[in-house]
Amino acid sequence: MFSQFALHERLLKAVAELKFVEPTPVQAAAIPLALQGRDLRVTAQTGSGKTAAFVLPILNRLIGPAKIRVSIKTLILLPTRELAQQTLKEVERFSQFTFIKSGLITGGEDFKVQAAMLRKVPDILIGTPGRMIEHLNAGNLDLKEVEVLVLDEADRMLDMGFAEDVQRLVDECPNRQQTMLFSATTGGSGLREMIAKVLKNPEHLQLNAVSQLNDSTRQQIITADHNQHKEQIVNWLLANETYQKAIIFTNTRVMADRIYGRLVAQEYKAFVLHGEKDQKDRKLAIDRLKQGGVKILVATDVAARGLDVEGLDLVINFDMPRSGDEYVHRIGRTGRAGNDGLAISLICHGDWNLMSSIERYLKQSFERRTIKEVKGTYSGPKKVKASGKAAGTKKKKTDAKGDKKKAVAKTPNKRKSANRPKPDSLVSSDGMAPLKRRKPAAPAAE
Ligand code: AMP
Repeated sequence: MFSQFALHERLLKAVAELKFVEPTPVQAAAIPLALQGRDLRVTAQTGSGKTAAFVLPILNRLIGPAKIRVSIKTLILLPTRELAQQTLKEVERFSQFTFIKSGLITGGEDFKVQAAMLRKVPDILIGTPGRMIEHLNAGNLDLKEVEVLVLDEADRMLDMGFAEDVQRLVDECPNRQQTMLFSATTGGSGLREMIAKVLKNPEHLQLNAVSQLNDSTRQQIITADHNQHKEQIVNWLLANETYQKAIIFTNTRVMADRIYGRLVAQEYKAFVLHGEKDQKDRKLAIDRLKQGGVKILVATDVAARGLDVEGLDLVINFDMPRSGDEYVHRIGRTGRAGNDGLAISLICHGDWNLMSSIERYLKQSFERRTIKEVKGTYSGPKKVKASGKAAGTKKKKTDAKGDKKKAVAKTPNKRKSANRPKPDSLVSSDGMAPLKRRKPAAPAAE
């Protein structure tokens, strides 16, 4: 019950209005300490309810009668525009029965409009570091009276190269009384350095990403022979699974565009989100998905970070994420707030070891699923080591056993080519429209 916290009745009213009944684990752990004014370092991922965990105590501190605002009291920094927008929404929802005003500063929006908003001095300023620095340089931003500073998804801000900007903004808040840093992962040396510089005697709340994986999401793997085979499986899943909204993750922009093209050719209502899309596209994709006009999103990790869309109940990992944390991020999007979700990872020969190390990291084993209509020849390594990784994966050994490639080819050369994804210009065996050949993918990875 939220009434267990010493929160102002206007905030409890907003919580009730939003139909939040039970605090999530991160809220239960962080809200009392944040209300005491403690510095916090919280390891929790998107979807855990971490936004409310810092927003409610901040609002509680600011709540009061209507007055002329003279200074920004709270600064919340996040790595992406979408996260910042979502956080603003959450702040506005919780502050609906108060006089507290908040403002948003992100790239891709009108600079002058933002400057005008800053002149009105919001109580809470939310945004991304790059544009904040631009306003600072333009003399539009005064953070001297900031009392509470939040660095949300701090690990991601570092990954995205914002370390210097964040540090500068932190230095601009010399009178802050409380700092809360949230990260999805325990991070590396960059994060440790930032924590040491920014936080004072922090309480570390480790809401382990793994234990936060939603129990109501089923996690399956389906083995595949190559990317084209993966595309066939995706088709089958989209046509046969029951879902409200689906998200397909790829590791590269090129693959995201390719899959998107395939879906559109089949008249699916889909959208693609990756690092090269501009702000307008991203907004449109998210709005359409939220409104239900689009049911399928194809995305890379960076672009999908922090997406919070209701009814997202099917996640397909076309490519396996590169780390356990990233996997948790992706899967954390389904099965939220008690809804059932289904997460399916498509596993080729080359994905197996990554998949098995993610299983080990999560301390669970994914359900193996076979779909008879699109069954391929690869079904995992012949032999696995105790770690779950493939044993004796050298080609020679597989050849000697002559295991599974009967349907493919007799000569090693042909076999090799059967396993390799075909160029974009070829018509795939699933009869989908061919795509134009693309230029060689320059920096394909996000
Ligand atoms: P977050 O991790 O802050 O991005 O939150 C993920 C989603 O869970 C958001 O849509 C929140 O509005 C929602 N949420 C947060 N806390 C609760 C709660 N205690 N009960 C129900 N939904 C919640």
